Amino acid sequence: MYDQIASELKACHVKLIAVSKTKSPEQILVLYEKGQRAFGENKVQELVSKYEILPKDIEWHLIGHLQKNKVKYIAPFVKMIHSVDNAELLQIIEKEAIKNNRTIDILLQFYIATEDTKFGLDIKEAIELLKIFNFSNHENIRICGVMGMASFTDDTNNVRQEFKNLKNIFSELKSRYFSDKAYFKEISMGMSGDYRIAIEEGATTVRIGSLIFGGR
Ligand SMILES: *Cc1c(COP(=O)(O)O)cnc(C)c1O
Repeated sequence: MYDQIASELKACHVKLIAVSKTKSPEQILVLYEKGQRAFGENKVQELVSKYEILPKDIEWHLIGHLQKNKVKYIAPFVKMIHSVDNAELLQIIEKEAIKNNRTIDILLQFYIATEDTKFGLDIKEAIELLKIFNFSNHENIRICGVMGMASFTDDTNNVRQEFKNLKNIFSELKSRYFSDKAYFKEISMGMSGDYRIAIEEGATTVRIGSLIFGGR
């Protein structure tokens, strides 16, 4: 299944993040040997222990909720944090990036599903956050775009609408705050069950786990 999906995504220039949570290092290496370099994890501990034993040219993406006191464990190596949803977290990531003398790419996570969840910003909160953030210079953190998860439902119209909403949020932030920032270009949306809809609605990155690794 991996080969098929990888070539499908390559053909439409969409980046694949192989979501390897709960999967073993051996399973990750199978995809690594096929050329996959971007992997996503949702838990800091698991991310760190896999980083330590796997090849160092793997690009690690944190896609799950991040507690402030755990930023320091991933700051030395993480490529991108997809789940930033408050200003304090952003500041801590920046502080840790400076300590490690590197630049960390982040995405702002938006709450687009109709389901109840604690995580993710709405557009109003994002604008507040960006007002604070934009007052100073930032060299060690780059806001590269947006991330969201659609509802778990068979109602594809609903899912499509949620992806459309995220795309609209992206476009609004791009024109208001990032029109001169080429790196603000990522829309991370779409998982095993809905990645094709996400791509139709403008995803630049999809996060796929069970479809390529098998069920969890
Ligand atoms: C687990 C997870 C995925 C991948 O889910 P699959 O349905 O296995 O493809 C994508 N994004 C996030 C944030 C996840 O936690």
